[in-house]
Amino acid sequence: VLRTENVRKAYGDKVVLRDIDLVVEPHDVVCLIGSSGSGKSTLLRCLDLLEDIDDGAIFFEGQEISDPRVDARAVRRRMGIVFQAYNLFPHLTVLDNLTLAPRKAHGVDRATAEAKSMELLTAFGLADKAREHPDRLSGGQQQRVAMARAMATDPALLLLDEITAALDPELTGEVLEIIRRLAGEGTTMVLATHEMTFARDVATTVCFLHDGAILEQGPPAQIFGDPREERTRQFLRRVL
Ligand code: ATP
Ligand code: MG
Repeated sequence: VLRTENVRKAYGDKVVLRDIDLVVEPHDVVCLIGSSGSGKSTLLRCLDLLEDIDDGAIFFEGQEISDPRVDARAVRRRMGIVFQAYNLFPHLTVLDNLTLAPRKAHGVDRATAEAKSMELLTAFGLADKAREHPDRLSGGQQQRVAMARAMATDPALLLLDEITAALDPELTGEVLEIIRRLAGEGTTMVLATHEMTFARDVATTVCFLHDGAILEQGPPAQIFGDPREERTRQFLRRVL
């Protein structure tokens, strides 16, 4: 689905991503872990073409999307991204938040978009909230709406950036349950998370970022059970 080669990104003379080689196969759940400032969010933003890279290449569904001639909006239509701040449109109902992109960017007719969106809301336990505005929902509910909205366009890849970081433990559980379900259905995802137990449970690959580089990557059993790098061990000792 996605592959990066030697991706490098700097802000001024500060290098924040270096030599990033990442391969995401269909149905993979890739968890990015690492200390604050290690580059997780920047990497996700580069994958979604919200940031330009300085060197290297990104391939998505066979196309080199890091080529400056590529239409970034067209690429983004095939990806879903959810951030810690849910960024729902406050003036639209929950249902209209979901149907907006399918209708406006994908040319789906209203009835079809609404039927599909209601299906998603039902699956995410939010059918009764369809006509509400986002500010009437709890943080966990809003984050589930944001996830449903990201899925409404059937993205080939879902990018999630610490989407539970602003939620209390109970609401975090609700949202993680949704991610777990999507993973079970074969949704391809790259997610940055501080939830190590969750990463161990659902990831197919865990990438440990340190100072802008992927220091170590592998199946969760290996990264958590038998990390090769001393830095990974130190990090895990601190967070587990
Ligand atoms: P956290 O776990 O706290 O979310 P992170 O791993 O997501 O951290 P990033 O947000 O990717 O880290 O930041 C990586 C580095 O890039 C940090 O040193 C940060 O200060 C720097 N950085 C991020 N965005 C910018 C920007 N717009 N301008 C300059 N530096 C930036
Ligand atoms: Mg971040």
